[in-house]
Amino acid sequence: MRYAETGFNLEIDLSTGNIERVETDPKLMELHLGGLGTAARIIWERVPPEVGPFDPENLLIFSTGLLCGTAAPGINRTIVNTISPVTNYLAHSMMGGYFSAEMKFAGYDKFIFSGKSSKLVYLYVNNDHVEIRDASHLKGKGAQLTAEMIRNELGDPNIQVASIGLAGENRVFTASIEHSHSSASRGPAPVMGDKNLKAVAVRGTKDVHVANPEEFFEMSFKSLRSIGVNPNVGDWMAYTWNDGFHTDNFSWGNARVRRKGYWSPEVQEDWKQLTRRYLNRKTGCYNCLKECKLSIQLPDKPAYGAKCFSKVYWHLAAFESLDFTWEVLGITQEYGLDNFSTPATVAYAMELFEEGVLTLADLPDFPLNNKERYLYLIDKIVKREGIGDILADGSWAASRAIGRGAEKYEHNCIKKFEQLPLKLAKVNMPYFLMFSTGEKINITQIQGSYPQDPLKNPEKRKKYCDGWIAAPQRFKEFYMAWEPRTEPDLKTACHICDWNEAIHYLDDAFGTCAFVSSFRGQFGGKVAYHIYNYPKYFNLATGLNLDSQDMWQIARRNRNLVRAISISRGLTRDQENPPEDHWKIRLPEEEQQVLSMYYEFKGWTNEGVPTKPTMDKLELGFVADELIRRGHIAGDETNVYEETTTYPEPTDEELDASVFAATQKMSMEQGGG
Ligand code: SF4
Repeated sequence: MRYAETGFNLEIDLSTGNIERVETDPKLMELHLGGLGTAARIIWERVPPEVGPFDPENLLIFSTGLLCGTAAPGINRTIVNTISPVTNYLAHSMMGGYFSAEMKFAGYDKFIFSGKSSKLVYLYVNNDHVEIRDASHLKGKGAQLTAEMIRNELGDPNIQVASIGLAGENRVFTASIEHSHSSASRGPAPVMGDKNLKAVAVRGTKDVHVANPEEFFEMSFKSLRSIGVNPNVGDWMAYTWNDGFHTDNFSWGNARVRRKGYWSPEVQEDWKQLTRRYLNRKTGCYNCLKECKLSIQLPDKPAYGAKCFSKVYWHLAAFESLDFTWEVLGITQEYGLDNFSTPATVAYAMELFEEGVLTLADLPDFPLNNKERYLYLIDKIVKREGIGDILADGSWAASRAIGRGAEKYEHNCIKKFEQLPLKLAKVNMPYFLMFSTGEKINITQIQGSYPQDPLKNPEKRKKYCDGWIAAPQRFKEFYMAWEPRTEPDLKTACHICDWNEAIHYLDDAFGTCAFVSSFRGQFGGKVAYHIYNYPKYFNLATGLNLDSQDMWQIARRNRNLVRAISISRGLTRDQENPPEDHWKIRLPEEEQQVLSMYYEFKGWTNEGVPTKPTMDKLELGFVADELIRRGHIAGDETNVYEETTTYPEPTDEELDASVFAATQKMSMEQGGG
């Protein structure tokens, strides 16, 4: 019997229609857990660098995390990986909702798509029944409408669907896969469109087995209740009334303009009234008591889900009032568009027009009204019409295709991918490392475990550290020594970045929502999952016996594997650099110094390539051999990653106390930001 995982993947060749249920090697779970870890292993082994994103040999993998579908709360992410057309590196995206649990209940850890279908199709999985079905009647249909039509035609309202809209069908690089009130963006949707795969529909009724069900359930149930009342977890951005932090601190338009003091009591009151008018209900994900998503319904329009930063980004990008966001989100969800990179791209195009780089010759019949212009550009991008065909590849590629000095206005990308419009004061070294070296893009995928600022009062800092169960001892020491208005030293910056990576990589392999783990570590220190209780969940679920050091090692292994994929596809040191104006004050020499120090710390060469001794120690020697064969390393490098320790481990009592019974319940009235 396999525990936690089902032990089976579904392999679907869309070119031939061949479908196979393939038993997996249990050793891979011990090495990589599941989710991103095992998906990266498959991509490394089966998708060599010669294979491009739109080649039939590229794989599109929907993974469950190792603990998805079990009683562990907040662990419900579907991880979607492929080779990204945006970057040509590994695309990594996670969506919440209910899809991964249903995959497990149907008896699969992964759906692995290869090839390309000659016509539009969707996959239907109902336990052991698996079928590729014609989707020609769904062509051009909205993502949510597609899900509804599939459930209707299959006669089962409980089927979970992940689908693309017109944007994905047209291989728009900023497209997203939509499911429930969640989505997977940053590369997989255009690959899904390229494979002519409109949707994946799954229904399952099987059990997921864990090795020690009673204790596992008891631990999970306790944690579920504590998540419900814990103000430190969840995506409170969705339900706070006060969005002043983002509107006052993030940049507007094409990441150029700050509007300090924009948020006022009047703006907040308007926002509240508007949201109350359109809010159907709050909603969340499988096996979680938080309700981080809003079901929004405008008159005579279908309901849609608003989540996270999407709630504010469109009005920031467009310099519009808040109601514009509510209007546009319904449109982009049906088109299946990401609400991070698409507004960034449209705002970039608007700036090009304002600066005369794009003219009315590029934008025929361009409306006079700002709002209409945004809708016009969204439409052109989704349909790949005229200039929209160029913008559909994102602002990095568009600026090179347009020429005429357009590159000057593309200043928000790292490794070709649009980032959040954060333009800050002075470079901060832990964040410099996180943004530069992160390979999964996006702020929520890299930061979170360590506070952004120290508390002024040393006693409060001490108290904070005493309750900070998630932090290995060295981070408490760094934090205690951290005086306000000073920066952590460069070595500390390396440790902080490394820790952030480790926790995110564990979340990505277990299938954990970052809002109950990695991304929430910095806010109060009390999170549902961390390096000390992950082993307990793992051991009870699988019957194996690993500790927190082993967990860190798995995170390190997965991180190096992802790194190796990028390196083999052309990642170089000079790409690991945020845009010039990301911080007003840059320290180029120190930045390069900390980057070299970090590479050394990670056991990489001065060019950022994992060395043979590093990979050998991580049981990835075969990966290093390939990097040698391809000339990325010589093989005689001696550098190996720096050992760190998670000891002393907290006692069971201390761990138990961390699953605390917080009493401060969040509500929409209280806000939370
Ligand atoms: S915390 Fe929010 S986003 Fe995360 S699983 Fe729970 S409901 Fe979903």
